[in-house]
Amino acid sequence: MVGRLILPVVAGMADVPQIHRRLVEVFGRHRWEPEGDPLSELVSTIIGQHTSGPNSRRAFDRLRERYPTWEAVRDAEVEGIAAAIHGAGLARLKAPRIKLLLERIAAERGRLDLGFLAEMPPARAMTWLRRLPGVGQTTAACVLLFGMGLPVMAVDGGILRIARRLGLVGPRAGPDEVQRTLEGAITEACIYTLHRNLIRFAREICRPAAPACPICPLNDRCDYFRAGGRSKKEGRQHGRLDGASKRVPYGG
Ligand code: SF4
Repeated sequence: MVGRLILPVVAGMADVPQIHRRLVEVFGRHRWEPEGDPLSELVSTIIGQHTSGPNSRRAFDRLRERYPTWEAVRDAEVEGIAAAIHGAGLARLKAPRIKLLLERIAAERGRLDLGFLAEMPPARAMTWLRRLPGVGQTTAACVLLFGMGLPVMAVDGGILRIARRLGLVGPRAGPDEVQRTLEGAITEACIYTLHRNLIRFAREICRPAAPACPICPLNDRCDYFRAGGRSKKEGRQHGRLDGASKRVPYGG
């Protein structure tokens, strides 16, 4: 008698395409369109760490009003940069980082332009960006995803929380593991839409406190919900400065 073949289950991987399809049914598909140059994306993402979208945008605009060129920001006093981005919070931490990373880019590349990253494979471009001060997985991936339209999953605190709750990754997994899991399970063409939909899902349904589990379109495949909505399995949130939510254009 031939025994039943038992295939190994790869945790989470099989679920991602279906999760993507369900989120598309609820939130739709999105097409990437260029919003600005990659360097602007980098600076705006750093300003946006740990703050709301409107505050971040206002702070970025004030920085550009005060210093019309990136060279001017690089050469400015840290105090002046901090005053310009004050409204976004943590200005004393973000201002020296912005100045330092502009100095580093100019020193290494001879000019303040990140267009050269488009010629690199995304993984190499990620590595290059993550060497810069204050740039971790979320910020580097936002530059490539939003600034260049490359298929790189940016994992902020909300996406990390969803991946852990759904059981796509373990409770202690970090952004890099979530990125690998999501990117490895869907096609490159789906990554931008999945990112946008997960960000919205994290804000509107799978909230940090009191998630709307009874109406959640994914509750039939959620570890957290099956455990009765208890948070004991949740690991530490992605709390580094880099882990802040990216300002993402919602509502469409
Ligand atoms: S069932 Fe609840 S915890 Fe699970 S994904 Fe949905 S909202 Fe989040």
